[in-house]
Amino acid sequence: MERIRVRFAPSPTGALHIGGIRTALYNYLIAKKLGGKFILRIEDTDQGRFVPGAEEYIVEALQWAGLIPDEGPGFGGAYGPYRQSERKSRYADYARQMIESGNAYYAFDTPEELEAAREAAKAQGIHTFKYDAAVRGQLKNSLTLSAAETRSRLDAGEPYVIRLKVEPGQDIAIEDMVRGEVTFRSDELDDKILLKSDGMPTYHLANVVDDRLMEITHVIRGEEWLPSTAHHVLLYRAMQWEDRMPRFAHLPLILKPDGKGKLSKRDGVRLGIPVFPLGWAGATPEESFRGFREFGFLPQAMLNFLAFLGWNPGTEQEMFSMEELIQAFSVEKIVKSGARFDYDKAKWFNQQYIHAADNAQLAEWVRPILAQNGYEPEQAYLEGFCGLMKERVTLIPEFWEKGAYFFTGVQEYDRAAVQKKWNPERRPLFDALAVSLSELTLAVWQGDPGEIKTATESFMQANGLKPGDVLPMLRIALAGTMQGPAVFEMMQLLGREESLARLAKAFGLFDTFIA
Ligand code: GLU
Repeated sequence: MERIRVRFAPSPTGALHIGGIRTALYNYLIAKKLGGKFILRIEDTDQGRFVPGAEEYIVEALQWAGLIPDEGPGFGGAYGPYRQSERKSRYADYARQMIESGNAYYAFDTPEELEAAREAAKAQGIHTFKYDAAVRGQLKNSLTLSAAETRSRLDAGEPYVIRLKVEPGQDIAIEDMVRGEVTFRSDELDDKILLKSDGMPTYHLANVVDDRLMEITHVIRGEEWLPSTAHHVLLYRAMQWEDRMPRFAHLPLILKPDGKGKLSKRDGVRLGIPVFPLGWAGATPEESFRGFREFGFLPQAMLNFLAFLGWNPGTEQEMFSMEELIQAFSVEKIVKSGARFDYDKAKWFNQQYIHAADNAQLAEWVRPILAQNGYEPEQAYLEGFCGLMKERVTLIPEFWEKGAYFFTGVQEYDRAAVQKKWNPERRPLFDALAVSLSELTLAVWQGDPGEIKTATESFMQANGLKPGDVLPMLRIALAGTMQGPAVFEMMQLLGREESLARLAKAFGLFDTFIA
């Protein structure tokens, strides 16, 4: 049986876009589903675009998402090194081999000469100049120069590139697992550079050589790479590797929230939403941003959301654990059309995961935010807090934003609501209610909040008070706001002493709000 090997092959040119995480996820799911290997390969041959910290970012993002490579830089594996910059010598050998077999050639054209050729083409009305079969005969390469001339240029150390010799007049058909048969005409392709003048391979050469040497069986990547695949097929043919060519699956584009065009980094800034998995600290504030993690998403919620950007199980089920995704996922169900990045849906998933998470797990996520704000609550109190708030938040930081009063005390009261509802004449009754609550035993306070509720209700009944007169005032006294968890649950969590202190302080203040 074929051993399934898939790879995620990002270039470390900056923070990894959220689409990259989707690509990694789909590769991971296929590998796990078919008992294969998920490989991370860093495609860092374009030194001009190398960004320090980008590789670390990629690894951290995969780790945060739980998409742990079976092989890769720092992850071990028998096919390394997994960083292309460390594999440099291999590529040049293959490029030379292709020259020997007549599938590639040396080209010595200087940038100025190429510019002149481009201008000349333009003068003839050809605006997209291509270095191809139609023009290579007029340019300076080992197909037009004599063997001796080529040799002496090489010996003299003159700069050169190696180009793929694309034969015109061929059809190049690819059986894409998502798109079906896709055919390219070789006439439309240029003679791509394989090896650059600095001796580094281009993406095309390095990518194909490594897919072959790493025995990759399935190439699963974004749709933007579909046109390159034609060149890749030619490379497989030229190296006589066609029988071992991987199968290709090109994933649909991720579209802007309004569905118009491709989701870009700028959309994140424009709409104030995350379009990267993690934050990035750039040199200036404009170059820095927060990611899904900093916005307060749980990794599994992000993955569940991303899984649906281009795939669906064909059933009504939306919530999928990683195990369930692995079971349900299949390339056949990946869609061709672009997938809209619906941020509200991402938040919906997060909300579902927060509701479903247990309090101890939530406490782990919430604790660092409290610590940043100077609070180190007891574990039991924190878990109780998470339990009361979890149905009221969508993103993790909201635990603090909406529930800080559990730690800070009430900083601000909803004055308008107090002015509408508070009747100073009833003040003695509220004080009496506080006294009767203070007389409940500690066991009652620490037990079922229903008991505090019952005691309050019988007090109200005995004193002719309606719940609508009392409960909103208690709520504002405890929390400052009309929103938040149920009154008696708050009381139980805050405890007898704290609750009574908050009531006493608030009732005194409420009188002063009434002018
Ligand atoms: N290095 C390419 C990228 O940055 C890889 C494309 C592919 O998977 O072949 O996405």
